[in-house]
Amino acid sequence: MADDLEACVRYRFSIQITCKSCDRTLVIDPEPLLRLAFLRRWERFLINAGKHMRCQRCGTKWPEIKPYDGPVRDAPIGITTEQQFNELKKRLRR
Ligand SMILES: [Zn+2]
Repeated sequence: MADDLEACVRYRFSIQITCKSCDRTLVIDPEPLLRLAFLRRWERFLINAGKHMRCQRCGTKWPEIKPYDGPVRDAPIGITTEQQFNELKKRLRR
């Protein structure tokens, strides 16, 4: 089973992010999040990526993140263009 972001990208899983407090649920493409995790040197395991995230509705940290075998439903989180990738890379180098 895909248990990290890289494996989700490779095996074409979506990821489901659920807020433990208000149950807000997103289903997103793991690839933009993987790029962000890579640049920020986060641990890539899904469970660990959660500590860097916060619910946009209620502000609770540490959502539950798990692989989801189905189509993406929500706007991506992370880095979606090469320009964004390069800009963040430049910024983090300083
Ligand atoms: Zn919430």
